[in-house]
Amino acid sequence: MDGKLLELIERLEREHSLSVDEYEYLIVNKTDEAQALLAEKASAVSRRIYGNEIFLRGIVEFSNICKNDCYYCGIRRSNANLERYRLSPDEIFRCCEEGYELGLRTFVLQSGEDPYYTDDILADLVSKIHGRFPDCAITLSLGERSRESYQRLFDAGANRYLLRHETADKAHYEKLHPAEMSFDNRMHCLQVLREIGYDVGAGFMVGSPYQTTRTLAEDLKFLEDFKPEMCGIGPFIPHKDTPFRDVPAGTLDWTLYFLSIIRLIHPPVLLPATTALGTIDPRGREKGVEAGANVIMPNLSPTEVREQYKLYNDKICTGDESAQCRHCLDLRMSTIGYQIVTDRGDIRKEVI
Ligand code: SAM
Repeated sequence: MDGKLLELIERLEREHSLSVDEYEYLIVNKTDEAQALLAEKASAVSRRIYGNEIFLRGIVEFSNICKNDCYYCGIRRSNANLERYRLSPDEIFRCCEEGYELGLRTFVLQSGEDPYYTDDILADLVSKIHGRFPDCAITLSLGERSRESYQRLFDAGANRYLLRHETADKAHYEKLHPAEMSFDNRMHCLQVLREIGYDVGAGFMVGSPYQTTRTLAEDLKFLEDFKPEMCGIGPFIPHKDTPFRDVPAGTLDWTLYFLSIIRLIHPPVLLPATTALGTIDPRGREKGVEAGANVIMPNLSPTEVREQYKLYNDKICTGDESAQCRHCLDLRMSTIGYQIVTDRGDIRKEVI
């Protein structure tokens, strides 16, 4: 292997830090051999901290109504070919009950930015879930809101918040979003969430339109600096009703490469093998775990609405019942020597 590449990989493993130029070198000079070495080191780090345990997060996609118009996203407001839905707080609560029965101890409530769900409605819902399932973590993924709103939901019992930064490069961000959306505000929201006390999830799509080796290197440096507790990365997959319908999807290989690098940058990070990764390859999630991921997010949404929360083409598991997903994942993980556990799955910052 190229001596410099090897030196960078070893330094990353030891120091968890490289310069932006060095991250870019790692990306530009990717080889199969480097990828295999990174995966070996990353999965060893993950095993040292989390053993062979895989944490589940049950995701309830409760509304596909969105006021935003992100150019890559299937539920963007300009997509007129989509039947829109909203689940009531009672329906969302019932999804959590079903998830609890299936052994899930983290619920992720995710939606488009739907103004219907006011702070009053959401705070009531969060405190009801928290009251009924005090042993569970509540993760929100509702997009950009005010500090007051984030604070209120935290006070109601939410513990974690997923808000992918999408890209750490402002000019790139502006090519993926309309002018009314702001890179600075997205980054500000991440800071605010951290200040309030949430465990915060950042992340980006691999292979998003206009992404370059430089923007990716900036993403890695951002993750190194911010050290999010969670990091969601999955391939960009085009959606037929978006302006990026003809852009090719990100690849399995590149996504695995970044999963391994991110595990080495921030060893305790909770790193999902995403549904998008399972969509581009039938064994994508297993391969993600073997590359250093330690979280899987099965869907708890009612089967009737799953088809309508399609952020991208051909999303998997939209026809399955939650129980089927749970059992399928048990089997998939046991075939590669991992075990799904009934656990909140908090970050283990102390074990490095
Ligand atoms: N509205 C909330 C937000 O903005 O964070 C949560 C829902 S949003 C749909 C969740 C994530 O889906 C986004 O952060 C984005 O990275 C991902 N996503 C959207 N369109 C995608 C696509 N075409 N391919 C892969 N991931 C996509």
